[in-house]
Amino acid sequence: MKKVSLKNYNSFSVDAKAKNLIHVSSEREIINFIEKNKKNELLILGGGTNILFTSDIECPILKIEIKGIEIINEDDNEVLVSVGAGESWDELVWWCIENNFGGIENLVSIPGNVGSAPIQNIGAYGKEIKDVIENCKGVFVNNGSIKIFSKDECKFSYRSSIFKEELKNKFIITNITLRLTKKNHNINIEYASLNNYLIENGISKPSIKNIAESVHLIRKSKLPNYREFGNAGSFFKNPIISKKQFKQIKSLFPEIVSFKNKNSDYKISAAWLIENCGFKNIKEKNVTVYKDQALVIINTGNAKGKDIYNFSQKIKKTVKEKFDILLQEEVNIL
Ligand SMILES: Cc1cc2nc3c(=O)[nH]c(=O)nc-3n(C[C@H](O)[C@H](O)[C@H](O)COP(=O)(O)OP(=O)(O)OC[C@H]3O[C@@H](n4cnc5c(N)ncnc54)[C@H](O)[C@@H]3O)c2cc1C
Repeated sequence: MKKVSLKNYNSFSVDAKAKNLIHVSSEREIINFIEKNKKNELLILGGGTNILFTSDIECPILKIEIKGIEIINEDDNEVLVSVGAGESWDELVWWCIENNFGGIENLVSIPGNVGSAPIQNIGAYGKEIKDVIENCKGVFVNNGSIKIFSKDECKFSYRSSIFKEELKNKFIITNITLRLTKKNHNINIEYASLNNYLIENGISKPSIKNIAESVHLIRKSKLPNYREFGNAGSFFKNPIISKKQFKQIKSLFPEIVSFKNKNSDYKISAAWLIENCGFKNIKEKNVTVYKDQALVIINTGNAKGKDIYNFSQKIKKTVKEKFDILLQEEVNIL
């Protein structure tokens, strides 16, 4: 079988090769594949915007392309929308805005597919997908059985869920259901840069459309277009440290950027840590960090997955040595 390049299937534009890339557009096709593929080993691929291929992929890759957006229930206040895993997340957000369905407007312009969105509980500008998830449906890789995970069973946490931990590559999400508002939308403008943008533009009572348009423009001004500079958004999670460790670091680096968490620990800006290790001035083998956002590692040319990985590990080591903080990857390394 001829190997296929994955360059157009990952936002880092890494030219890894796949031995067997299979496009699936229904749950039935997935189950048929599982019944034939007794080995249980496979890789699930959505839009490839949160993956780093460090080598060629020998196992079968299932590219999930299940389509469909359907209203399955509604009353005067709320609507339940069921969406196929292969739909574009950003297109879904704009579909909701057009229909005046509130709840995911802050998550506009996040690339990737709907089925991948619960995997790392996508979040941005004060919201996470867990705020609106009703359930996630899918298929177990080992036996093809179907299960619907309730929101609680999904075990959502900061940039994680059961699907990124114990069920990683063991459960294929085929469909998700969102509970959205039809009126009295829960407008969230607590995120400082969004709030400032709205004030600067004289928008005092933002609609969900105002929020989506504002977040879209803010993101465009801050983040590199991955079609120009290959990247996967934030490479690392923002680390969370104890109050005790925070006090120690703050005394050494008073200007450190941090956010107090509800449970009295502190979230530290990983971008600040990386920038303060000098990485904006370091470029190796066509890999560097983005000039306006040090948390985004970019491929400036034909970098190999291994080069990007090595650069990320250099960042991790340097941050650990300087701040005694261990960064944890947000991107899925393969
Ligand atoms: C420019 C840029 C900005 C970004 N901004 C944000 C942001 O603000 N917030 C945020 O949270 N993320 C952000 N991301 C990361 C990324 O967009 C999200 O994580 C997105 O949900 C990934 O979707 P995908 O379809 O591309 O997933 P992929 O990269 O294809 O897959 C990601 C992981 O999910 C698994 N997977 C994919 N589909 C399924 C499925 N159907 N069932 C089970 N497992 C599956 C894969 O095996 C892999 O482990 C950004 C990325 C880029 C490039």
